[in-house]
Amino acid sequence: MSSKPNLSIIIPVHNEEENILELYERLYSTLSLPSLIEITYEIIFIDDGSTDGTFEEIKKIKNSKVKVVRFQRNYGKAAALSCGFKRSKGDFVITMDGDLQDDPNEIPRFIEELKRYDMVSGWKNKRQDPISKTLPSKVFNRLTRFITGVKVHDFNCGYKAYNNYVVKNINLYGELHRYIPALVYWKGYTVGEIEVEHHPRVHGESKYGIERLLKGFLDLITVTFLMMYKKRPLHVFGGIGILFGLSGVIISIYLIVLWATGLKIGDRPLLMLGILLTVTGAQFISLGLIGELITNSRNNDDYIIKYDSYELENGR
Ligand code: UDP
Ligand code: MG
Repeated sequence: MSSKPNLSIIIPVHNEEENILELYERLYSTLSLPSLIEITYEIIFIDDGSTDGTFEEIKKIKNSKVKVVRFQRNYGKAAALSCGFKRSKGDFVITMDGDLQDDPNEIPRFIEELKRYDMVSGWKNKRQDPISKTLPSKVFNRLTRFITGVKVHDFNCGYKAYNNYVVKNINLYGELHRYIPALVYWKGYTVGEIEVEHHPRVHGESKYGIERLLKGFLDLITVTFLMMYKKRPLHVFGGIGILFGLSGVIISIYLIVLWATGLKIGDRPLLMLGILLTVTGAQFISLGLIGELITNSRNNDDYIIKYDSYELENGR
């Protein structure tokens, strides 16, 4: 039976068959370094609905410290990380991409920084990806930094490290993994950042294109509201309500005064239409936000698991 590890390494993978074994080899040699020899570890692969041989490649690894959870289908990186967070037993938790772009040699630096911060985010300052990815990412990072006020350069870097209590307290879904430093900071934890080396992708393809970027931008609205108003949704909706209600009262008083002086008020359809549309619009926004807030506070998982080495280990 395995004892509690010091370090959990979580790797979400979707169609990375050519990268798995090489990544494991590199991780294994880093974890065997004299500086890390004291560290006991577990490596948790989350196979996020791969349709190639990724799962079979992971199963080839003969090391009881390597675990794999296989999803029924592709649910996205946020779901994969969320599942890994739940499984992780280590005092320190590191997440990294499974495409060999993140260098295992950074692990000792991450662990060192975790003594100072609750969470440490990687910063791919010299990111080795095409401009079609690096440019939107720069815009996205500036915008997120501006809106959330969290001074991190690279919110979406897959390479991050946490003290275990942090991962047990964040709730990820949709594209929210892009905003982890902001979510963590909002919970009241300290967030550090270290520059990490980044390699070009050699095998396989990037799974993130423009469509996912757009979804990610929409989630920025959620994050903004979560950070500002989660506990007091009424302060948002009530504020809007008061604003609209007051304008309604003012307009009514104005119309009553006109009516009292003998003027006709029944022939102003445009005014009525305007009011109707704005009120309806505001209600739709409010409903959307209430939905987001409820989604964020619920705890059931969005994913179905097809295979789980933890359950096998516990004899279930
Ligand atoms: N990934 C995943 N589920 C997805 C998309 C990606 O688990 O739906 C994994 C992917 O296999 C890789 C990591 O997330 O290990 C980062 O993905 P990718 O390299 O495609 O993103 P990029 O580095 O191009 O932003
Ligand atoms: Mg990548």
